Amino acid sequence: INVTKHFKVSGGLLGLQTGTVRAVDGVTLSVERGETLGLVGESGCGKSTLAKCIMGLEPVTSGEVVFGNRSLSAWDEKKLRSKIQMIFQDPYSSLNPRQKVASIIREGLDIHNIGTGDERREKVNHLLQVVGLRPEHGSRYPHEFSGGQRQRIAVARSLALDPKLVVCDEPVSALDVSVQAQVLGLLKSLQERLDLTYVFISHDLSVVSHISDRVAVMYLGRIMEIGDSKTLFEDPKHPYTRALLSAVLRPDPENQPERIPLTGDLPSPMNPPTGCPFHPRCPEAFDKCRNGRPELMTQPDGMKTACWLYSGE
Ligand code: SF4
Ligand code: MG
Repeated sequence: INVTKHFKVSGGLLGLQTGTVRAVDGVTLSVERGETLGLVGESGCGKSTLAKCIMGLEPVTSGEVVFGNRSLSAWDEKKLRSKIQMIFQDPYSSLNPRQKVASIIREGLDIHNIGTGDERREKVNHLLQVVGLRPEHGSRYPHEFSGGQRQRIAVARSLALDPKLVVCDEPVSALDVSVQAQVLGLLKSLQERLDLTYVFISHDLSVVSHISDRVAVMYLGRIMEIGDSKTLFEDPKHPYTRALLSAVLRPDPENQPERIPLTGDLPSPMNPPTGCPFHPRCPEAFDKCRNGRPELMTQPDGMKTACWLYSGE
């Protein structure tokens, strides 16, 4: 079995759902083994579509997704399904209310016919403990649990097949802040323990920067800025990243940047603006921004930024 070193999404136009909506446009990403890559952006920016491309759940129109040095299409689908797992935002709708927790968690083992009945039961009990629940919780139904506990159940389910990569799509957005921290802490400790790689998607930059090694900021299906999480947080360059970050409250008020309001609505991905996709909302837009689209350029500190202010010209 190939071990996952990294996967890469590359190509011209990715994830065209209907052929007209550019949900994800020319995104190239790689994730190193054991790393957490954060994907951040407003809703509708293409994060979830990109996640589905990574999962192989969304057809890729052109370009390809590489996982463990092999194109997704070259993988045996069943095997791929076990190596890449997903955790969704809503722990209420992602768990079947009619199924007992143990059977939810063991479903993957049943489908893939892994182990004897006893071994599967054993594994389920183990997974419940790994996520901080107890074996006897397996005989209950999802509605008997709190939001945070349900997300723990979803995490246990995602681990049943010993995945290499877990795509977390807004996994804590539906939870209270205190519970968020617990679930994030759980994800972190599981990562170290099980050598997991995460793609962590959220609209909340403070959550993403907290858990991610690197962060990609997406806008209208494109990456505006990508780099080391600490650098991005301390020295953001792209005006869109700066606007997002200015809304994040800092623990030390002295370093709180002035709030940069994001005016105007997110334009339709059906009809993206010419030039820089952010130009209609960018406080620093100038002539060039309306015509030419800036590519990601590597900055002296290693960040990659798609903005004419940082094009080196
Ligand atoms: Fe703003 Fe122009 Fe940079 Fe786009 S390229 S983010 S419009 S300054
Ligand atoms: Mg989404």
